[in-house]
Amino acid sequence: MIKTDQEAIIGALGSIIGFGNIMHLCEMIWRKRLGDATGGELTVGPCSSCLVRCPHPNSGPSNCEWCCGSGRITKRVLRAIEELNK
Ligand SMILES: [Zn+2]
Repeated sequence: MIKTDQEAIIGALGSIIGFGNIMHLCEMIWRKRLGDATGGELTVGPCSSCLVRCPHPNSGPSNCEWCCGSGRITKRVLRAIEELNK
C-alpha cells in the first residue's frame, strides 16, 4: 500500500469518526503496546529517539513539571534535573 492510499483511507475514516478520535484511538492503542515505555505514545518519529525516561517519581499519567506527564524528556533536561539534585 502506498502512502497516498493510506492517506485516502485515513481521510475517509477521519471524515466518518473524526480526526481527533483517530488520534485518541491511536494514542490509546500505542500506549497499550508500549508496556513500560511510558510516554512513547506521545512522541512521533525521529524525536522519540532523542528522548529519555523522566526520572521524576510523578512521571506518567500524573502531573510532572519536567515532562508534563509524558514520562519522556530530552537528555539536556535530564542533565538539568541531575544538576539540581547534586
Ligand atoms: Zn516527569
